[in-house]
Amino acid sequence: MRVFKFGGASVKDAEGIKNVYDVLQKVGYEDVLLIVSAMGKTTNALELVIKNYFDKSPELSSAVQEVKKYHNQIVMDLFEDEKNAVFAAVNSQFSDLEYFLANNKSPNYNFVYDQIVSFGELISTTILSHFMTFMGIQTQWLDVRNFIKTDANYRDAEVDWELTQKNISKNIKSKILNITQGFLGSDENNFTTTLGREGSDYTAAIFAYCLNAESVTIWKDVPGVMNADPRYFENASLLNQISYREAIELAFYGASVIHPKTLQPLQKKEIPLYVKSFINPLLKGTSVAKGVDLEPHLSCFIVKKNQLLISLSSIDFSFIMEENISEIFALFHRFKLKVNLIQNSAISFSVCVEDKFNNFNELNAILSKKFKVDFEENVTLYTIRHFNDTAAHTVEENKVVLLKQVSRETMQVVTKEI
Ligand code: ADP
Ligand code: ASP
Ligand code: MG
Repeated sequence: MRVFKFGGASVKDAEGIKNVYDVLQKVGYEDVLLIVSAMGKTTNALELVIKNYFDKSPELSSAVQEVKKYHNQIVMDLFEDEKNAVFAAVNSQFSDLEYFLANNKSPNYNFVYDQIVSFGELISTTILSHFMTFMGIQTQWLDVRNFIKTDANYRDAEVDWELTQKNISKNIKSKILNITQGFLGSDENNFTTTLGREGSDYTAAIFAYCLNAESVTIWKDVPGVMNADPRYFENASLLNQISYREAIELAFYGASVIHPKTLQPLQKKEIPLYVKSFINPLLKGTSVAKGVDLEPHLSCFIVKKNQLLISLSSIDFSFIMEENISEIFALFHRFKLKVNLIQNSAISFSVCVEDKFNNFNELNAILSKKFKVDFEENVTLYTIRHFNDTAAHTVEENKVVLLKQVSRETMQVVTKEI
């Protein structure tokens, strides 16, 4: 079986959905499992619904309406006949969402988040699968929550591989086109969980692993994995072939074209990953597989914006040692700050972190009792794999360099715009 993943950008409007059909016509859909994300920026739009819900804001209903309007427009563009079953199916999903908003009693933000945000994927796959049927492709819509089982760590759930493997081996056999949701799973009480933002690539890898799939293809709005994000670097060039190792490094440092969790399950079973353009599906794109990198010396640039640089020093000039460091890390873990860079000296300790959950103020209050805390918000972290002088110059030019760290293959620079 081949596993294909279509992300938000590929299904952002009716044209996008039609394009998925065209891609399938060109590359074949025999024995294929499609993993699909929410359409366009729907997950962000649903995050706004969640915010309004918790704020008890009068804007809640208009936030829901926005999501509805967006999907209804796509459905109307795709299906002229209002008698098509897709209209009832999508309406029923929205009724479920509204029922949840009206009746939920749980105050647990992360739990509520997952119950709401999951409608993005449930609705997108409903529309896509009706469209494929409409175009004459026989499909099977699968609720991914019956397959991927996780713990109850809402918003960042951990996969229960044993149960997931059992479900997938038992229930996915058919040769017809299977369509399911990326990003979602369910816990032991069958409540919806999510695997972390941008987690649909990972879903594709989970299925591929459990199915011993022939390959995974993630269809993107770029020609493949490039040596830099083309949004920020002109002249980015395509990497034709990279090893799992290189891909893991790039994804780990933040090359967002592949979700970092995707590679490990694939590497374990040596299942090749193709990153291809959904605009030019017949082009080769990037192949990630075991073996040697074809372009080992091309410098690769990774940009992470909106970072927070925190420097801690001891108040009494004592050293920052193992016990302090482990305590600091336990706190970062507790407050869900993702550490992207660490630098340590005798009496000070600097980290560049991402505060996705806006917990820094709370954490700072605790840290400040023990350390002198300095921080700089809104800094950018550049990582260069296979750096050289020219590459370093490119990222440092016209910026204030706040911190720099160099290892054999990798240079990391924290900068602030002048
Ligand atoms: P999806 O639609 O599957 O969610 P993403 O938007 O997450 O796709 O990933 C594609 C985007 O990743 C591209 O539009 C590009 O801007 C960005 N990107 C970041 N780093 C790279 C890189 N090294 N090569 C290609 N694209 C990259
Ligand atoms: N829709 C989810 C997100 O935007 C998952 C994904 O697209 O990968 O984070
Ligand atoms: Mg994405």
